[in-house]
Amino acid sequence: MKLTEKRIMAICFGAVLMGVVFLHFYELTPRTIKIADINEGDYVKITGVIQGIKLVRDKYRHIKKIKYIKIRDDSGGDLRIYAFKNVNKDLTNYIKSTNPTIKEGDIVEVIGTVKVYNGLYEIVLDNISNFKLIEKKNFKRDIYLSPTPTNIYASKNGKTYHTSKNCPYGKKIKEDNRIYFYSEEDAKELGYKKCKWCEDESGN
Ligand SMILES: [Zn+2]
Repeated sequence: MKLTEKRIMAICFGAVLMGVVFLHFYELTPRTIKIADINEGDYVKITGVIQGIKLVRDKYRHIKKIKYIKIRDDSGGDLRIYAFKNVNKDLTNYIKSTNPTIKEGDIVEVIGTVKVYNGLYEIVLDNISNFKLIEKKNFKRDIYLSPTPTNIYASKNGKTYHTSKNCPYGKKIKEDNRIYFYSEEDAKELGYKKCKWCEDESGN
């Protein structure tokens, strides 16, 4: 076979094409890696435990938005997961799609390109399909506030709850500042302590 100019061009073209295809797939396949071993720019798949979720809640404590999710794996490294615009909506819905909601202690997997921001590793989710719950570990129930008045109430600015309409301290709380609980258990779990006056009255 003669190496005509045409053939040489065809071979070169073929080689370049193979290179492009290879690079394409190389970039499309995330590397499964530990957080301690990641570098800026790596395209990775990481499995970790949720350390914390920074949330925006509405006034009844329903989750409105995810600020970021911090995960850690057994290498001891930390990584933050961010999502913006529509992906944030998808992520918020995904976090709320389990009952109880996805929270601290649950195991998740994330795929994306590692960025460094303020000295911290982060991945900005580009698609909700790149975030997945692997195992639900935390079954602590979710607590919401009642949108309609109940007889268990507090000031949104305080940490004391009341159970009597006649409580002189409870009466001082302006309607706009009142929050209502579904149960005393909910109030306690959210860190509220029962008012002494109400305690004495309910004891009588
Ligand atoms: Zn009271």
